[in-house]
Formats: sequence, C-alpha cells, structure tokens
Amino acid sequence: MIACFGIVVTGCAKKEELSSYTIKVDYFDDTHTANCSMEVNYLNKSDNALSEIKFHLHPNAFSAGEEERVSTPATRDKIYPNSVSYGGIEIGKTCVNFKEVDASVSDDKMFLSVPLEKELYPDERVSVQMDFSLTLPNAFHRFGWGENFVNFANFYPIICVYKDGEGFDKNSYVSNGDPFFSEVANYEVTISYPEKYTLAYSADEVKTTSLQNREEVQFKSSKVRDVSFVLSDKFKKLSGKAGKVQVDYFYYDDFNPEQALKTGVDAVKFYSDKFGDYPYSSLAVVQTGFVHGGMEYPRLVMISDSVKGEEYQYVIAHEIAHQWWYGVVGNDEFEEAWLDESLTEYSTALFYENHPEYNLSYSQIIDDAMSAYNHFLQIYTDILGEVDTSMLKNLSDFSTEPEYANNIYTRGIIMFDSLRSEIGEKKLYACLNGYFKEFKYKNVSSDEFVAYFSKKSGRNLENFFSSWLEGKVKFVENN
Ligand SMILES: [Zn+2]
Repeated sequence: MIACFGIVVTGCAKKEELSSYTIKVDYFDDTHTANCSMEVNYLNKSDNALSEIKFHLHPNAFSAGEEERVSTPATRDKIYPNSVSYGGIEIGKTCVNFKEVDASVSDDKMFLSVPLEKELYPDERVSVQMDFSLTLPNAFHRFGWGENFVNFANFYPIICVYKDGEGFDKNSYVSNGDPFFSEVANYEVTISYPEKYTLAYSADEVKTTSLQNREEVQFKSSKVRDVSFVLSDKFKKLSGKAGKVQVDYFYYDDFNPEQALKTGVDAVKFYSDKFGDYPYSSLAVVQTGFVHGGMEYPRLVMISDSVKGEEYQYVIAHEIAHQWWYGVVGNDEFEEAWLDESLTEYSTALFYENHPEYNLSYSQIIDDAMSAYNHFLQIYTDILGEVDTSMLKNLSDFSTEPEYANNIYTRGIIMFDSLRSEIGEKKLYACLNGYFKEFKYKNVSSDEFVAYFSKKSGRNLENFFSSWLEGKVKFVENN
C-alpha cells in the first residue's frame, strides 16, 4: 500500500548514478498471492526527453491463454504437473512525483506505460509510485509455486531499457531462452511472509523482524540488474567462503549438499581469479522447482531439483558463470543471447579444465559439443533439407528449442574454443579479464564485444566472429 503524498524528488544527476527501486512484498501462502508497493526513482540516462516511462510486466506471461509464452508442448507437463495454472500482476494506483496518473497496460498485458506530466530531460530524475498485486501460478517456473518452493523472480514491474534511436525495449516474454534485459540499479526490498518459511536471498544489509506469525526481512542490493528470492518451508542452509564472498547454499533434496556448496565456492573463486573479482559480498545458490536446469539472477542462482548427479554440479558452475556474463556485464538477452549464454557455457568448460577433480575434461566437453552439433546438423538437414546455423537471431526467431540450444550453447562453446586456437590461451584470458573490467555494470552489444576482443587481442576478429555468428561456418570437424 502506498499513499500519494510526500516530497517531490527531481533534479539533475551525474551520468554514473543509477535508478533505484524500493519494493515491498507481503506474501500470503493460503492464496499464493502478494500485495506489493514500489517506488522507482528513475534516472533518464538517454539523450532524449521522455514523455513516459515503460515497464515490463513479466508475471503476465503466466496469465490465462498465454501458456505459449512460458512453455512448449514438450515442457508443459513439467511446468504444470497438476494441470495448467495461471498467475499474473494487477497494477493499482500509480503516481508520478506523488500525484496520481492514468497509467495504461498494453493490450497484450506485457507492458505498463506511465505518462509523465512534463518531459523528463537527460540526467533528470522522476519518482514513480505504484501498488500492485501478484498471483503466483502453481508452476515449476521462475515465477510460481510448488509443494517445496515459492519462486519470486521477474515478479515486479521493471523498467524497459531505453535505447537511443529505438525507444523503450519492446520485446516481451517468450519460452525460448531468458527473455530479459535491464539496467543496473539500486534496490531496497522488504518481504513479509508466514514464519514457517525460510527466505533464500543474497543482499547487502539485513533487518529481520518477527510479528504475528510472520517474518519481515529488509535488504539492500546495490548495483544489480534485478532482484529475486525463493521461499521454502523445507530449506536447509550451508555456507562457505570464496575469498571475501559468502556463498550460501539453500536446499531441501540433496544427499551431498557439501559437494554443491564446494562447487559454488570453487566456481566463485575460479571466475573471480580469471575474469575479475565478484563485486558483491554474497551469492545464494538455491535448489528449487524449475522446468529447466537452472536460472541466473544477480546474486542468486536457481538450480532445479530435477537435476541429479554430476549434471547438478555442471548447472551450478554454469549459472554462477552468468554472475559475470549477464549479471555484471549485461546484454540484451532477447536480441543477442549468445553474448551471455555462449560465453557462460564456454566459461563452464574453462572451470572444468582447471578442476580435474570434477572428472570432466575440457577436451571431453569440446568433443561432446562437436558431436552433438554435428548430430543436430545432420538430423535437421535430413528433416528440413537445410538448417539455420545463425547465432545472431532474437529469441522469437529461433524456430525450435533445439535450434536455439544447439546454436547458442553448443555452437557457442565450439566458437570460443576456435577463438582460443586463433589467439591463444593467454590472450583469451586477457580479453575476458579486460572485457569484464571495461563493461562492468553496463550493457554490451555484439559489435562492442567484437571491437573489444579485436583491440585487446591485437587481431581483427570481425571476420572470425561474423562467420560464426551469422552461421557461415557450417560444419565443424574434430581436430
Ligand atoms: Zn545459461
């Protein structure tokens, strides 16, 4: 609940300053609903004067009739084991600088537009307040609940990235990949929930209050591009340290939790050492119900409880690499998924190369990728006559899930292995390390990536990357 009164906050800001979100969530488990309020202090970092601010309404991807946004025929039963269930977000009273405005939801319910009374010039700030309510679906997904978990991810209205020349981001939720794109901001979040639950999260400062059979946790998370948390009444927790970084492992079904924690700690140490220090004080590794293997959020990774054995450790190593690629160095995951996904998958191969005790060698990963990709090419050529090998497509343009996965993950690994043959291991690590430093907290484009890697390696890599990314390198050979 918010009220529309207070002090108007406007004025100028320096370019390096960030927008901020203050979010309050009251979760009720009997109805699987939450009453929420949010205040956003938005900083216009574009070169344009803005007459509105747009927000993504990701929870509405789970609303009635929208099943195709979050599932495919192949994943539907896994997402909804108890029959299809719906959820979504309802926007209540919305104010700009504490004055009520007529905010509008798009026809497809995926965007909220908040009109500004007067234009917001570059470097100016405006304050937007809103109430909203959430209904969580009974779904093994980023936003949803099951017997063992309540997943709060992509749950609040998040500002669409504004691109000069293009306006606010218009892409919305699809079932392929991770259809998300956001700017780094500062967050203050207060969550209240029934006391039987444990809250899995990772943040800077904490205040916990117990009142009337409920817990209330208040945290701050600075310089992150999203926040998420998971509730479970079955969570156990193990903690360890990767240098100065606390790694917390939350789980409810793991006969060897020490191994999962060790993988988490090893991964944070390795990527910090090779790419650059993890810039946050803690990371939560959270076992939960999720249709795919895992999912990355800043400072929190979800690991699916359906993944078992060695693969469970692989998923942990992969999702943690995303802390560097997507979390700190961001990109438009809808338009250019390869930037974070291919690099993350290849970073996971580097993790294994440097940790022989995990019994999966680098050459094994590359060989497996080669044969999986050749298999994909063969099958799709047999069925369709030709196969699209482009990596530079937006998520909705990949015609099938295997086309996306094989080109972004598998071809991605092979591409980076080929880059290593091209420029050598030492230069590759120098590029990764410099890239992390150069683009920390920013969003990168493919062009910027290629330009940076060319500059840092001292080699013009434009042809190399374009032939891989545009799909011109058709067949790969074992060497
Ligand atoms: Zn990934």
